[in-house]
Amino acid sequence: MGSLENERSVTGWAAKDPSGILSPYTYTLRKTGPEDVCIKVLHCGICHTDIHQTKNHLGMSNYPMVPGHEVVGEVEEVGSNVTKFRVGEAVGVGCLVGCCRSCEPCNSSKEQYCNKRIWSYNDIYHDGQPTQGGFAPAMVVHQQFVVRIPEGLALEQAAPLLCAGVTVYSPLKHFGLIKSGVRGGILGLGGVGHMGVKIAKAMGHHVTVISSSDRKREEAMEHLAASSLSSSPEMGSSSVRRSGSRPGLKSSARVGWITWVTPAWFTHKAYLQSGPAR
Ligand SMILES: [Zn+2]
Ligand SMILES: [Zn+2]
Repeated sequence: MGSLENERSVTGWAAKDPSGILSPYTYTLRKTGPEDVCIKVLHCGICHTDIHQTKNHLGMSNYPMVPGHEVVGEVEEVGSNVTKFRVGEAVGVGCLVGCCRSCEPCNSSKEQYCNKRIWSYNDIYHDGQPTQGGFAPAMVVHQQFVVRIPEGLALEQAAPLLCAGVTVYSPLKHFGLIKSGVRGGILGLGGVGHMGVKIAKAMGHHVTVISSSDRKREEAMEHLAASSLSSSPEMGSSSVRRSGSRPGLKSSARVGWITWVTPAWFTHKAYLQSGPAR
């Protein structure tokens, strides 16, 4: 149990160089301030960004770095101004832990667009200390960036909702697609796409998985209950890149929206030519 008066040491799993190997690293958590929630971490998802960051694929990694931004745990302690959370509640933290709180995005609940947003790890907090993520026993997080996990939701299954899940949920919400009977496509089934299929299916959509081959048919149809799978062997192939030829969807697989969740290069225009479908 922490104390409002004390900093404390924790030992997390840190990258110390771009090798991709994590090893124990002991560091100090800040005191639980008046607006802070101290969280005992119970589960943390692994997002591909964690791999990019630990291996310095983006050229901006600082070590030692404790990754993890799909964090779920239990409230262990709250600051004196925290009224939204109680000790013992299940909560989560995603990829942000801070912002400037005064710019236009911050004032319109779009903190992700704040120029001074603070990432959950590999960033510097307001106090000048490095932020460290959820591959650790505990985190201290400002209450603004803590979310409650609803009762009845398995905590380990809630974790991937905090990055992958919200990544696919957000555009559906933004474009007014949270309704049943819509036909949609998930282009790329590699983790985020899995969440996309499940979320869109739960909304009552007819979901077509668009994949470069038939290899993931069983996974898409039987494990995730997708409505159909449309394979485009040309997708991402170097021959398409060179020739500019256009893959696309069969007319029977026309969809009203597509969420792209693949890192591979491909000719995307063809997928936009079918026009809206119901
Ligand atoms: Zn992520
Ligand atoms: Zn701001």
